[in-house]
Amino acid sequence: MPDAPQLLKPRTLRDPAALVQAGLVSPEAQAGLERVAEHYAMAITPTVQALIDRSNPRDPIALQYVPNAAELVTLPSERSDPTSDAPFTPVKGVVHRYPDRALLKPLLACPVYCRFCFRREVVGPDGGLLTEAELDAALDWFAATPTVREAILTGGDPLMLSSRRLRHMIERLSAVPHLDIIRLHSRVPVAAPERINDDIIAALSTHKAVFLCVHANHGREFTAEAAQALRRLRLGGVTLLGQSVLLRGVNDTAEALENLFRTMLTHQVKPYYLHQLDRAPGTARFEVPIAEGRRLLRQLRGRLTGLAWPTYVLDLPDGSGKAPLGPDFARQQDDAWLVEGPLDGTTHRHGD
Ligand SMILES: *Cc1c(COP(=O)(O)O)cnc(C)c1O
Ligand code: SF4
Repeated sequence: MPDAPQLLKPRTLRDPAALVQAGLVSPEAQAGLERVAEHYAMAITPTVQALIDRSNPRDPIALQYVPNAAELVTLPSERSDPTSDAPFTPVKGVVHRYPDRALLKPLLACPVYCRFCFRREVVGPDGGLLTEAELDAALDWFAATPTVREAILTGGDPLMLSSRRLRHMIERLSAVPHLDIIRLHSRVPVAAPERINDDIIAALSTHKAVFLCVHANHGREFTAEAAQALRRLRLGGVTLLGQSVLLRGVNDTAEALENLFRTMLTHQVKPYYLHQLDRAPGTARFEVPIAEGRRLLRQLRGRLTGLAWPTYVLDLPDGSGKAPLGPDFARQQDDAWLVEGPLDGTTHRHGD
């Protein structure tokens, strides 16, 4: 038996037994979840554990992170590489789909493992850290590809790197003349805010434009600690954007989305993308149909500050890119446009 102080010390939960011990799943569920754990990583940080409302079986925080036996069922429409990264990989760790920007995936570890993750077949605590030589080759690729103006650090989560490795990468990218923008996509500010320390802020300091796109799906994820981490990043010269996934049970009401986007704005995080769910294996329980997503956003237009409005996108499974899904307020008819007023739904004719 572990002694009492060890039990009380908050730690990241990484396996079904730990989830049972923490009271997040029932003992009867453990056997099924052991099978989930054979396929998919799990991790719930102390910050996220503290956010979970154990009295609510449909808690929107728990739904995002607590594994479920439903993950063992893969539908015919689900793909292991739902955004087709593999065919667009010129060197290990790089995904180059658009002419002016490319992804750099220095590692595949994350602070938490989201149950709906589009890269769930590859992310995990011990996978995918590029060796020094591989990282050098990836950075050389950026230096040798002048059409690329923006390096997008993703993974996994780039803020899981040590500050030394992160600093090295930012320095190398900053020295490339044709790169104007360094962008990071991260869940660390909300899921493991204590990692945003002075060393990380110093590592992100560069004369290039730095954007950080924070992944959050529910207003409650913005804790006091997350607020502090975001403030540090902002004071460190980083422009903050938000990205969310439209998820059944988590943010599939106009109220939940309004609260999420308004909360982002109070932390000077500009909602950037609302993603339609990518069909990764075992994620069907999270899918909200596109028609419903468009309806939800339509309800928010007009009632919510324009700053709160994200672009609703689908990353096409064949690698054709991210396509905006609307909603549209205008359609062409003969030589005019019929435009819907977002305040009252009335239709207005606008001659071409
Ligand atoms: C999502 C993605 C980007 C970034 O796209 P933006 O629309 O600029 O946010 C870039 N490259 C790849 C391969 C992507 O999947
Ligand atoms: S943080 Fe992003 S990459 Fe990591 S598990 Fe969640 S969705 Fe996947």
